[in-house]
Amino acid sequence: MRGDELESIDLPQLRGLIDDQPGLQRVLAGIAAGVRERILEHEKALNAAAPGFERRFVQPFKAIKRIEFDDLDSGAAFVLDEPTRVMTFNTGHVRSLLDAIMRDVDTATERLAPGEIGRLARLAIELLILHEVRHLSQGVGDYGDVQKLKAISEMLVGEFDLLADRDAAQAYALLRTLEEGTAKPVDYVRFFAEAIFFMGQYCFPAFKAPLNKPSKVARALGLTLMVARIARADVTETIDADHAGRLPLDTALVPEIAPDWTKLTIFAYNPDLQLVSVAVEVDILSLYGICERLDDGNFDELVEDVVRFIRTVPLI
Ligand SMILES: [Zn+2]
Repeated sequence: MRGDELESIDLPQLRGLIDDQPGLQRVLAGIAAGVRERILEHEKALNAAAPGFERRFVQPFKAIKRIEFDDLDSGAAFVLDEPTRVMTFNTGHVRSLLDAIMRDVDTATERLAPGEIGRLARLAIELLILHEVRHLSQGVGDYGDVQKLKAISEMLVGEFDLLADRDAAQAYALLRTLEEGTAKPVDYVRFFAEAIFFMGQYCFPAFKAPLNKPSKVARALGLTLMVARIARADVTETIDADHAGRLPLDTALVPEIAPDWTKLTIFAYNPDLQLVSVAVEVDILSLYGICERLDDGNFDELVEDVVRFIRTVPLI
């Protein structure tokens, strides 16, 4: 089972599954096993397509014996038991994500066809697994360590998250291109954008990016700028050109907002750290308004506004 079981379910069935703990755990474990299997199956091609992929994903997936799901009272996203190499994900986090997807279906039927729910649920779980497995190779796999790191620099924790989001989207997009047998850069970029867009549409509402949490706002804004850059390239039909240019469209963008909201600085990991723009003066109300709406679940409208925003300021 590689997630196909989930793909054919409808909304009432998904609701039932969320309340059926053993059933949910079984389906999730099947999806996790499928992701691991696919990464290892395409190991050579993935390593060739993206330098560093082996260290980022292949090695940690090889080091894990099995992935399970259970409720974790600590609040951790996962725990890795060193002696058995069993990785246990927190079912609670998955439920929050699936709830956000179902809320979206309930409130905006025109945005999401009911038949699409199973595909989105599977995408949510796959991206969550890739994100968390990437934390292992980032060295931030231990929940206790992350709590200590938060006390030292919360912004740094947000940055690890943003980079794990970006790498998870890349892994998803590379797998899709390999499995669909397409070598066109435009397809890769669209799959990549689909994954990042998904994070904006469902993960921010599920896990929240409130204005009093600058690290969460920076992560959410970074992902939004990445999607907006791709959307702008799509409109101007420069996806291929941009991708071959200085800053590829799958580059991670890390923003730093001045405390008074008047200036924006952007760093990029491409894959090494680069300064893209420093202390660029921006319209306070535009930037504040964008950040205020990061977790309201209308990500498509927000991206349109951010595309307009980056047209007016020389940021990226
Ligand atoms: Zn994370």
